[in-house]
Amino acid sequence: MAKIVLTADRALFTDYHGFDFFGFGLCMPYRLVPRIVEYRLLTPKTPTDGLRAKHAPYALGKVEASLLASGFSRDDVVIAPPHMIRKAIDEDTEIVGVHVLDPKGLAPVSWTLKALSGGGMTCTELEFEKLIYEIKGLKERYRFKVIAGGPGNWQLRGYEDKYGIDVLYDGECEITFPLIVKKILDGEEVPRYVQGESATVDKIPLITTPSRNGLVQITVGCPRRCRFCNPTMWKFRSIPLDNIMKEVEFNLKNGIKNISFVTEDVLLYGANGLRLNANAVKKLFKSAVDLAEKYGVSKKVGFSHISCASALVLKDAVKYISEIEELSEDEPIFPQIGLESASPRIVNKYFRGKAYPYKPGEWSDVLIEASKLFNDVFWYPCYTYIVGFPDATAEDYVATTELIDDLKSEGFIGWTFPLLLIPMGGSVIERKKEADFVYLSKLPEEAIDCIVCGWKLSVYNSRRLVSKLIKGGNPLISRIMLRLAFRAIDAMEAWVDGMSKGPEVINDAYSKVNIRSGIGLVRAILTS
Ligand code: SF4
Repeated sequence: MAKIVLTADRALFTDYHGFDFFGFGLCMPYRLVPRIVEYRLLTPKTPTDGLRAKHAPYALGKVEASLLASGFSRDDVVIAPPHMIRKAIDEDTEIVGVHVLDPKGLAPVSWTLKALSGGGMTCTELEFEKLIYEIKGLKERYRFKVIAGGPGNWQLRGYEDKYGIDVLYDGECEITFPLIVKKILDGEEVPRYVQGESATVDKIPLITTPSRNGLVQITVGCPRRCRFCNPTMWKFRSIPLDNIMKEVEFNLKNGIKNISFVTEDVLLYGANGLRLNANAVKKLFKSAVDLAEKYGVSKKVGFSHISCASALVLKDAVKYISEIEELSEDEPIFPQIGLESASPRIVNKYFRGKAYPYKPGEWSDVLIEASKLFNDVFWYPCYTYIVGFPDATAEDYVATTELIDDLKSEGFIGWTFPLLLIPMGGSVIERKKEADFVYLSKLPEEAIDCIVCGWKLSVYNSRRLVSKLIKGGNPLISRIMLRLAFRAIDAMEAWVDGMSKGPEVINDAYSKVNIRSGIGLVRAILTS
């Protein structure tokens, strides 16, 4: 059996039936997610070939590739999904690597959904605990070392003994991770906290396990330097086009049906700092669409994030992407974008780099213009904005509320979701102790209005968009999810109405809802 087992919990190690955004459903307290919905619809088990996962979260694939590139053999390393962990670990196991994203339910979406729904452990935390306690039990028997790493690592500081974690690994894996693994195998002591060194792009090896839903990283880090963000602490680099296309083609050859780019801003691809490079972006999408055509898969090449300022600078590239992907009203895309705040004072203090080359005072206009551009080319953004900047005033919240009202009157198609500020590990505001987790009870009335206003627009547009969003993939799953989604929208509408009368309703009523079990679900339906 393999010496090194790599895994992640069920909230991460799944393909979400092809709908990556289902992952956000797992940021809900688990009392609000019926078991059958979580395990049958949101997180199907990952298929395996023996013990090996047939596809894996991209980050685990990169860790595996780094080990192989540094001299380990294929037999030394296995990526196993959580349901195979008991079989994958035995007396030969010396190291178990656990990839973590939101192990304590403290990421912005989880923290916000907990606050807005009355609290409780999220599905992400529940699944992490299930996995880590299983590993801890096996560790007592087989005496291997446990390394936890990934974007959610900061949440585990102080919990190392509770969960039996020997090393908390931060940063990039390519150079330092294999060294740590070799030291452990040689019986040497390793530090409890390790910061991975940054690798030049030629030192980043290609994945050898297909990535879930065809995710492939195109940029690392972000040069915009927002104070609440941690990816910005990583040195910004663009992965060479050739390597990206090799990974895309590897996925497609191995039966993956999608192409999707992992990035903090897709239009930063090939940029020199914040000097954007339209040609590099166009070439990237053209190459990907050509491969999609060659392998007969969807030409809708997805990507995780983009920024409004980049979009206005590279209007042509935005239009070009829509043209070659043949987007339409029925075939739109749904990029995730942080608008953060419409207050020039907050922009200036916390994220002026995000607005660059525009000035903080121009940010609202940038958002309105970019929204029109996106909607014209069938991009329906999922905007998020932050509530709870440490010194935010009533005027700052009103500015954002007015922006959302303006978006609505301009006929904006997309979502506007509020997120409560969290001091994300590694960000400037966390390191300088400038902010703490935000609680609704500490927010002024204008902040609650600002939250309600964004949710109202989101509910309104959800009815228009949900059938476009849940489309493709397994037809039965799509049909079921569509029905559930309409129910969820109704519930959201009722929730927003309640909130608009005062946040007390959260403690008085929402915190008591529990539909996890079949009985709880039936009771809730009968009561409603
Ligand atoms: S633009 Fe986005 S990824 Fe870049 S620093 Fe700001 S929040 Fe982070």
